[in-house]
Parts: sequence; structure tokens; C-alpha cells
Amino acid sequence: MKAVVKTKRTKGMEFIKVPAPRIGPRDVLIKVMLASICGTDVHIHDWTRWAQYRFKPPRIIGHEFVGKVEKIGDEVTQVNVGDRVSAESHISCGDCYQCRNGYSEICKDLRLLGVDHDGACADYLTLPEHVLWKNDPDIPDKWATIQEPFGNAIDTVMAEDVSAKTVLILGAGTIGLFATGIARASGASLIIVSDPNNYRLNISKKMGAHITLNPKKQDITPIILEATNNNGVDVVLEFSGNNQALNQGLKTITPGGRISILGIYEKQVSIDLNKEVIFKKIRIYGITGRKVFSTWYKTSRFLSSGLVDPSPIITHQFPLKDYEKGIKLMKDGKCGKVILKV
Ligand code: NAD
Ligand code: ZN
Repeated sequence: MKAVVKTKRTKGMEFIKVPAPRIGPRDVLIKVMLASICGTDVHIHDWTRWAQYRFKPPRIIGHEFVGKVEKIGDEVTQVNVGDRVSAESHISCGDCYQCRNGYSEICKDLRLLGVDHDGACADYLTLPEHVLWKNDPDIPDKWATIQEPFGNAIDTVMAEDVSAKTVLILGAGTIGLFATGIARASGASLIIVSDPNNYRLNISKKMGAHITLNPKKQDITPIILEATNNNGVDVVLEFSGNNQALNQGLKTITPGGRISILGIYEKQVSIDLNKEVIFKKIRIYGITGRKVFSTWYKTSRFLSSGLVDPSPIITHQFPLKDYEKGIKLMKDGKCGKVILKV
């Protein structure tokens, strides 16, 4: 079969022929239809600091996908040949303290699809049945493949209720854009989105942002305060992984408000904990992955009901062999979600 493989500990990837995977008794063989590119794949491609310590080539990349079950192991009971599936990318052990307490997203023995386990940018992949998600027939393929990052956005937005609340979204990458649609559908009364990328700010307007701000061109703090009667926002959702943006969020959050942080920072961040958190009584949520599978049910319902239409975010589609085009667009910031047809 053909696959996008990170073959060497240097920049780049290769589209090469590799042996098709084999399945064990509890595994499922899936024929991939669409895969989508995530920022993680760009890190692996560019061999950034994170990739250098975390990733061990050779490995097939990709963890967002939709496909059809081609073959099942003898002990598989939950899916059948022909089922249209996606998957939770956090492959948990099921046995550790976290898993047994309902936190499989932070399993002690977590294996990430496309990082520790051969990924979805290939004709076929295998997965243990316990991470598979059977897709709602009302969700088109193009939407089914983006459910995994959509789930990141759900957990960030819904760590607490947002209805009738004022919300600041920092970073309008694909996950911040999904969050904009989710916050709007969940009844947020004011949604302010900040991103230095005007292309993405335009998409955020289509997803329901009331005010869009460019922190490279304007001082966003006084504008946010003015828009909230000098109260500041009730909720900050941090998707930029930028220290300055994080501090802007903490400065503009109303005392007693909450911040959810999904963004990942290149270095240790600096915040004024006394002034911006403790004396303001701010609640901080660190968000990683998704709740398995409660968030998948929510994702499925947001999409199948039409409460959130992610179409404006899905901006490009290429054949799998042209994955480099997608990675370049992502590095240039000239896209939303890029989908690869396998
Ligand atoms: P992305 O890189 O597509 O989006 C980040 C956005 O932040 C970009 O549009 C960028 O222009 C914007 N940005 C940069 N500087 C900014 C600033 N000063 N103010 C406002 N915006 C700024 O990433 P994504 O795929 O949408 O993911 C969002 C973040 O979440 C990333 O940091 C990613 O690494 C992280 N992430 C975390 C998890 C997790 O489980 N915790 C999972 C997936 C992604
Ligand atoms: Zn575990």
C-alpha cells in the first residue's frame, strides 16, 4: 500500500510503498477514505524540537480520518465489515489509575495514533476496536474526518457553561474556529476572536464571531473592555499557544471568570499568578485530548443536527500524494482544515 511516512530524523516525509498492516484478534483493519492534516503532522514534518524528543521514525503519520472497516479480528464484537468509522487518537491502556478513573485521555501508557502507532495517511490502518467510533450516517465524510479536533474544541468550550456569557477566543486556527461555532451554537452572547491572521479571522466571522481583532494591528485589551462594559469577558478560550495572547486573556477576563487552555507553548510561560489569577479568583482548566467517548457523542450531535456547520473551516482537499501542498498551506497560514483523499 502507499503511505505518508516519516522515514528519517530530519525535515520532510516520503510518500512510499509499505507493507499493508496485519491485524491481531482484537484489531480492526480500516480502509482509509479521507485523512486530515493537524498541526502535529506539521511539527513531525518540520522535525521541530517537540518532534525530535517525542517521535521515533519510521512511522506512518496522521490521526484524523474516516474509513470503512475492511476486516475484523476473531474477538472483535463492536464493529462489522463495511462500518464507516473514525477513531479516538489517544490509544489508552484501560488498566492504569487514570483509565480506571474515567480519564483515559491522560492514560499513563498513552499511545498516540500517527506518533506511537502507524497512522491514517495510508491506504489502510489497523486499530484496536476500543478506540473506534461508528459514524452517524447523517455526517458527510468531510465532516467525519474532523471530529477528533472538533472534540478538542468541545472540551475547551464546555469545561463550563457558556450560554449568555461573553467569550474571548485566542487563536483562530482550526480548533479555535471549531470552538467559535460551538460557542455560538451553545448560546454565548458575545464572541470575540483574536488572531494575527486575517484569512482565519474572516472564517471566524462565518462561524459566528461577533467581533474579530488582529493583535498585530491593534491593542486588543481596551477594545475587549469597551465591548464588555468594562467588565472583561466571562470566559477565555486559549488556542494560540502564545504567551502574549495568554496574558492578554488573563488581563481581560472578568474577576470570577474562567479560562480553558488547549494551546501548547514552545517554552515555559510567564504569568502574574497573584494579580491575574489568585486575587481575581480565576478558574483555570488545562485541556488535553477529549473525553472518551462522551465528547464524541456531543461532536456527533453538534454536526449531525446542523447546530455547527464546519464547511467554512474545511478550505482545501488534495489527493494523499500531494500532502506537501497541504503542509505548506498550513505553514503559510493560508488555509483552514486541509483534507487528503486517500
Ligand atoms: P493552529 O496553529 O492552527 O492555530 C493557532 C492560531 O493561533 C493560528 O491561527 C495563529 O495565527 C494564532 N496566533 C498566533 N499568535 C497569536 C496571538 N498572539 N494572538 C492570537 N492568536 C495567535 O493550531 P490548532 O490546530 O488550531 O490548535 C490550537 C492549539 O492547540 C495549538 O497550540 C496546538 O498545539 C494545541 N493543541 C493542543 C491539544 C491538546 O490536547 N492540548 C490538541 C491539539 C492541539
Ligand atoms: Zn491507561
